Parts: sequence; structure tokens; C-alpha cells
Amino acid sequence: MKLFECQNCGQLLYFENVTCEKCGHRLGFNSETLSLVTLKETGDGWKPVGNWRGKVRFCRNAQERVCNWLVPDSSGEDYCIACRLNRTIPDLGPPENRALWQKFESAKHRLVYGLLRLGLSVPSKTEDPKGGIAFDFLSPQAEPDGVITGHESGLITLNLDEADDAKREVNRKNLHEPYRTVLGHFRHEIGHYYWDMLVAGGPWHERYRRMFGDETIDYSSALQQHYQNGPAPGWQRNFISAYATSHPWEDFAETWAHYMHIVDTLETAEYFGVKIEPRAGRKGANRMAIDYTRMASSFEAMLEGWVPLTTALNTLNKSMGQRDLYPFVLTPSITAKLKFVHELIADSAQPARA
Ligand SMILES: [Zn+2]
Ligand SMILES: [Zn+2]
Repeated sequence: MKLFECQNCGQLLYFENVTCEKCGHRLGFNSETLSLVTLKETGDGWKPVGNWRGKVRFCRNAQERVCNWLVPDSSGEDYCIACRLNRTIPDLGPPENRALWQKFESAKHRLVYGLLRLGLSVPSKTEDPKGGIAFDFLSPQAEPDGVITGHESGLITLNLDEADDAKREVNRKNLHEPYRTVLGHFRHEIGHYYWDMLVAGGPWHERYRRMFGDETIDYSSALQQHYQNGPAPGWQRNFISAYATSHPWEDFAETWAHYMHIVDTLETAEYFGVKIEPRAGRKGANRMAIDYTRMASSFEAMLEGWVPLTTALNTLNKSMGQRDLYPFVLTPSITAKLKFVHELIADSAQPARA
């Protein structure tokens, strides 16, 4: 994720900011240029400060305090490109639901930023009923049959309970997962969507099968078997997570999510000017200035930055008494799958917008 700067006063700004802490100007995110824009209110609406022409509007979800994205005033849209994807939001009657929904929206907006950043198209089901994306955010308290997180032809269902840290932690522990986050769920489920869009039946399908396995094996029995027996011993050599072993579709979605984690974290490190220069073990250690923009040209270059960065991040977490930020080990076989995702995206993406 990039860092931003107030166009009025030069203050450092973050993706989620809605006002400038220093000068108090309202801020909005422009999804065309992927930048946070400083706004001033004119008699008839909001305008970016500076020489910009044209008015902008806030996404209707700004009223709900779950979105800071903009819509061009000339467009007929009420919602921003990220909020247009919502088909069902939780019932905001129960007071706790609003805070949980806010967590979902925060992760969803970061997801959409990440997809746009990679040059991927993010159509809603309203504009493209067959090939678009829609989210159902469902509270299990309101669904008599419960809520199963998953993806089906662009429709992504997410269980609102996962935004509750205590409940998510219980699930994490029961499923023996080292890592479970709301953002991870979004990135995983969207991976299934892009498998449908970019892999299924296309020029990448054969290569996918050679690397991830034959996805035509029965999905529900594969999953059932996974939950009954767990992953095969030694799975860590070939899979980024135990869940990835359950079916080649899940392996792809887990790998896709992981690739998005890497890109976002490397870009954040770049914007903070992070350099890894350990003051010990000078002979063996990797020394690296994290520069995602340069590293994005090849997956090998990204890894060169990623490995020393995650080593440093894990060690920093230990200093704070926290468990590893990055509880994963990248083996050659996992790296090859990540590279597949990198090349698939590079091949499918439109030229960068920013
Ligand atoms: Zn400012
Ligand atoms: Zn919005």
C-alpha cells in the first residue's frame, strides 16, 4: 500500500484517512489514479484542491463511515467501485454489527486497491451479471442455516463472525492455522473468482494443472477428506498452507492470496523507505532496499526483498512479545506457484493506471 500526502499542507496520509490530521481538509480516495485526494467544499459540492477541474462525490457508504472513496460527479453511480460489489450487507439493527461491517469494509477496500494496483478489472455483478463480482456479508445470527464462507461464480459469501477477533481466533486454533485474518479471507475468495476468469479453459489452464494438480477431482469429497484426515505428512514442501492441500482450487486461492499479501507488504515497505541492513553476520545476510516498483518486474526480484523483509518483521514482532507476523516458509515448489500467479496477473492485467 502506498502512502499519500495532503495536497493542501503536505501532511503524511494513510489509505484509511478521512480527514487531514493537520489542516482538517476532507480526503477522498480516487480509484482511477489510486491516490488520496484533498478536497474542499464549494457551494455545490466537493472539488479537489489545486488545479483540478470537475466535481466529485463521496460514495454513498461515506454516510455509513465505511468508505472514503470518490465517484466522479458526472457518473450516475451512487457507490464507488468497491462498494458497488456489495449485494448484501449485515442488518445494522444489532449495534455490534456496524463495527464488524466496518472491519469487513476496511479489508474489502484494501483488497480492491490491491486488485486495481495489479491492473485487474473488478466488475460488479450489477454491470456484468455473469462475469462480475458480488459480496454477501452475512451474520450467522440472522441465517437459520448458518453461513458458509465461499465463492460461487463471482458471488463471495463471508461470515460476519470472522470480523470478531475472539471468534476468529477460536476458529484459527480449531483449524490449526498459523494465520487467519479478514483480509486473508477476502484475498483467498477473490482468488477463486480470478481462477474462473483467468485460468479456466484459457491458455494458462494446462500449466496450472501441471503445477497445482487436476482440479476435476470431486471437490466436496476432497474437502471432506481434508477435514477428516488432515494434510499428508511433509505437505509443507509443496503447499503454502495445510488448507491448500485440500484441492487444487484451494491451492490456487491460497497462493493467490499469498501473492497479494506479498505485493501489499512490499509496497508499504517501499513507501516507508525500508532498508534491511543487518549489523551482524555481514557475510551471509541479505542487504536490501525494499523497492516494490522496481521488484515488480520479476518474481525473483520480489523474493529478493521479501525474504529479508519477513525475517526482520518476524524478529520485530518477537521484540513486542507477538508471534511471527509471517508464519510461512517458501520452498522452491511454493515459489514456483507464486511465480505462476505473478506471471498470470502480468499477462492478464491492463497497463497500470496510476
Ligand atoms: Zn492537510
Ligand atoms: Zn464506497
